[in-house]
Parts: sequence; structure tokens; C-alpha cells
Amino acid sequence: MANGYAGKVLRVNLSKSTIHEESTDPAITRGFLGGRGYAAKLLYDRLPPGVEPLSPDNLLIFSTGPLTGTIIPAAVKFAITALSPLTNMYGFTMSSGFFAPKMKSAGYDHLVFEGRAEKPVYLWINDGAISIRAGQHLWGLTTTAANQILKEELGHETQTAVIGPAGERHVKYSSIIVGNRAGGRCGIGAVMGSKNLKAVAVRGTKEISVSDPPALLDATKEIISTLRTVSPACDLYPKYGTTYFMSSMNSYGVLPVKNYQESGAYEAITKVNEHVFKEYVVKDSACLRCPIVCEKITAVKEGPYGPVHTFGPQYETIWAFSAQCGIDRMDAVIAANALCNDLGLDTVSAGNVIGFSMECAEKGLFHVNGIDLRFGNHEALLPLIRKISYLQDEGALLAQGVKVMAEIIGKGSDKFAIHVKGMELPAYDPRPIPGMALAFSTASRGGCHLRAWTIADELSGKVPIYSTEGRAKLVLGIQNLRTFIDSSGMCLFAMKALPLPQLAKAVNLVTGLNLTPEEALKLGERVYNLERLLLARSGITRDHDVVADRFFVEPVKTGPHAGQKLSKASFEAMKDEYYELRGWDLKSGLPRKEKLYDLGLA
Ligand code: SF4
Repeated sequence: MANGYAGKVLRVNLSKSTIHEESTDPAITRGFLGGRGYAAKLLYDRLPPGVEPLSPDNLLIFSTGPLTGTIIPAAVKFAITALSPLTNMYGFTMSSGFFAPKMKSAGYDHLVFEGRAEKPVYLWINDGAISIRAGQHLWGLTTTAANQILKEELGHETQTAVIGPAGERHVKYSSIIVGNRAGGRCGIGAVMGSKNLKAVAVRGTKEISVSDPPALLDATKEIISTLRTVSPACDLYPKYGTTYFMSSMNSYGVLPVKNYQESGAYEAITKVNEHVFKEYVVKDSACLRCPIVCEKITAVKEGPYGPVHTFGPQYETIWAFSAQCGIDRMDAVIAANALCNDLGLDTVSAGNVIGFSMECAEKGLFHVNGIDLRFGNHEALLPLIRKISYLQDEGALLAQGVKVMAEIIGKGSDKFAIHVKGMELPAYDPRPIPGMALAFSTASRGGCHLRAWTIADELSGKVPIYSTEGRAKLVLGIQNLRTFIDSSGMCLFAMKALPLPQLAKAVNLVTGLNLTPEEALKLGERVYNLERLLLARSGITRDHDVVADRFFVEPVKTGPHAGQKLSKASFEAMKDEYYELRGWDLKSGLPRKEKLYDLGLA
């Protein structure tokens, strides 16, 4: 077994109820490392063309990286990859906690699910002993209840990845709940539901062999020291998680308000910011061996939304259920987050769908029987989340996401359906920050801020404000870097403090590779190009690399960037520059042959 890897891939055919082991492929780890990269390669090699996301032929891949489960702090990430039912193309969600280290300690780098079980099942991986078990008693339960039963059945040290009623019903933005974390985006929970797979439970105790244990111990001490001294890892994340973005994004003028109609001056910010959030925190929570401790456990003890006890919300979720819907109550936001966690629904897409529905209702285009869909009506949140998750009444339409909703509602609603390639956008208004428009439009899984985040550079004067100058290079560089990080198993939040050479050194000490930082970026570039090839198989071209019309035609109304909007001509020119730098064809937006040869993908 190669250092840094458990050495095995577990293939589970749920239609045939069979299990096979194969070796982790050293040729793939050399080119794509692990995690997001390895999973993309598996999907590229093994998914037949023309497969529907919710058909048994779709693959569902859990994929750890070489750092996962080692002594390196914050190396807990894994990718869950499949064709996404939300975007109808390649998709993945990253999650953390304890699951991935335990999966690897149980002997597996990757799990590949094929087919569909006849009846609900769960997979139990007990340190290398595998069983596909009947799961009817879990079906229909919330994620919290199912997790509790699994722990009672299998032991309290068991780690689980569970879907809720939303995933069972194939809601297109269903999440997978992984301990105190969610794998939220791209609707991968619906793929799990389509396979009748309620949960994966793991227990693992084996050590992961590493190339140079003494040097890795020293490197680990250095990393811990960096994480304890560099912001935001040492101060803001431990104190607030990511919720401090509520105040900072509002004062930067990029916090979207009421379905992106306004931004930058949310009138109720003092009621839904990180300071108010802190009043509801009852406990801090960390992933395995992470000194950052960014997760917060919250409780609403009384009042119309109590009692409720859950993990999170982080920034994106607070925004989704407050400013995005014009709501000013933190207790309602925490209750909405708790309900989404329980029912297995992605909070970012859910908040977007509700905000979009509210705008449609205020424009007289759409209504939901019995619910007052006014911006600001906090009482709409919980009933709508239930209707969506159980596909009740109009909830069945909301369960499709804003792109399909706009296609069905019509009447020009597509102009303010805020998504990229079908995935709803996160909490940043791109009008004053054109780099984020490029980041959203070229992200490899649809509307996503985690593949590249340019806001600090754009608003701090590092690049000229409002201009598209320098954005193509900036976005491309961050995309390649973050792709490497996601393929290594390291948490992106930790990488806000750690420089790339420190991460590359850790990967080398674990695996025995000798990657320079430049080679690490090249690996990230290779994975990003492979992802683009996967998107191309679903018909994605340059024409799909766009953001909503609203950002081009409606200027920001309030706040420090009032009057700003994106220019179509500048946006397209920025894309030209980006494709040129990437070595992609300007017309199709797909990698040129020379680029594929250069990256070993031809
Ligand atoms: S920074 Fe937060 S999400 Fe990342 S590993 Fe640490 S506790 Fe987990």
C-alpha cells in the first residue's frame, strides 16, 4: 500500500447486492492525488454516456485524500461525487467531521456505489468487514433520528453519512448529513436516495502509513502553530465560525438582499449578525484534530421557534434565511437551519428558492396556498421547508430549484432566477466584484464561491475596483489552488491561514511524493480541466458560463456600490482572457488539444 493511502477502493453494487475490492490506482493518485481529483477521474472513466442523474446507472463516489486521517490537523475533507440532479452535469459536495478519517482507517480510500437497492439499505463498514444491511426501519426518519438509531445499533463511535426525507424523495438539492456537518450542494443526497441508500456507517481503527513520520510530526507542529497565530484561523473562525461574514460582507456592500434585488445595506443586519448568533451558541465543535473549532452548536430554548438544538448555521445559511428572504429573526434562521439539517436539505439552495418564490409572489407570478410569501415573513420558512422536503402541493415545484421553477412559472422570471448552470448562488452580489461573476460562471459545479473567492483582493485595492482587469488570472490561480487542496483532504478554512508550500510539504511527507508548489498547482489545473471535460459531456460550453441577467441590467440600489452593475461586453472579454489563459477554445470554452496533451489528459 502506498504511503498516505489505505490502498483500496470499495465497489458496492446495490442492484446485485455485491461488494468488490480493488486497489487504489497509483497512476490515478500520481495524476489526481485523491479526494475531488480521484473521484472526478473515476467518474470520467466509468460513467457511461447518457446516464440520468437519478437512474441506477449513476455512480456515487465517496473519496478521501492522502492527508485524510493522518496527524495533520484539519485534514478531514472528502468529496462526494456524482452526476447532479440539480445541474444535470458533474457535481460534488465536500464534507468534513470524523467520517472520512474513519472511512480511511477502516481500509478504504474511496467508496463507489452503483445500481439501486430493491429496498432501503445502509452500508456498514466495520474496520474492513462490510455488510449491506436492511434499512427499512430508517427510511422516512429524519437524519437526526436515523443517526441516533445507527449509533445505538452499531456503537456510539460509529460515524455516519445519512440522508433525510428530502433525499428519499429526490428533492434536487437534498443534502447528506455527515455527523455535525452537511455535504450540502449539488443535490447529491437525492442521488443517494435514488439508490435506496439511507446511510453509510463506518468504524475504523487502522493507522495510515506515512512516508516520513518524524518529519511529518515536525511539520504538523508547524501547521498547528500557524493555525494558532494566523487570522482568521486563530481568532475569527474559533469565535464565530464563518458567521462574521454577515457584518463584513454587509459593510463591504456585497451582501445580497431579497433575492439579489439589493445589496450592501441590509436594514436588519444588527438583528442577524454574528453577535446575535453568539447569543444562541451553546457549544463549540471541531472536526477530528482541528484546532480551529469553527463549528458551533446552537439552541433556541424558548419562544415560537424553541426548543431547537442543532449544528450551525454558518454564514451562507444565516444569509439564505435572513437577508435573502428579508427576514430579521435569528431564532427563525436557526430553526430553519435545524429543519433543513433534519430533513436533509441544502440550506443555500433552499433559501434561494424561498427568496425567489417571494419575489415571484410579490410580482404576482406565483403563490403557495395558505402561506403568505412576502419578503420578511419569517413564518413562511418552516412550512415551506416541510412542503419542499415532502413534495407537498407547490413544494413539489420548489423542490426543483430556481432554474426549473423559472422555466415553469415563465413570465420573465428567468431574469431573476439566480443560479449558474442550475445551482443557486451563494451569498455574494457579483455586481461590484466582477471577479466573482467569473468565479461563479466558471466554477466546475455551477454557482459556487468555494472554487474561487476573490472578494478580499477585489475590494482591498489589490486589483482595480469594479474593473475586470487581472480577474481572469486571479480566478484561474485560485481555482487551481483550491482544486489541489480539495484533492489532498485538507480543509479550505485552514488554508486561509496556511501557505501552499506548507501544504505541499505535508503532502510530500505523507506520500513520499516530491511535489513543488508549482507542480501542486499543475495537478490542480489537471483536475480542473478533467472536470471541464466532464461538464462538456453534459453539453456545457462557453454559452453556459453566465450569471443571471439581473446583474447586467439592474444596478445595485443601495450601499457603497450603488449604481454598479456588470457590463456584458466586459464580462465576455474577461471570459476570453480566462479561456486564453486556461488554454481553452474561445468559441466552445473547452480545453484545446495542446492543453490536454500538456496535462496528460489527451
Ligand atoms: S476549520 Fe472547521 S470545518 Fe475545517 S476542519 Fe476545522 S473544524 Fe472542521
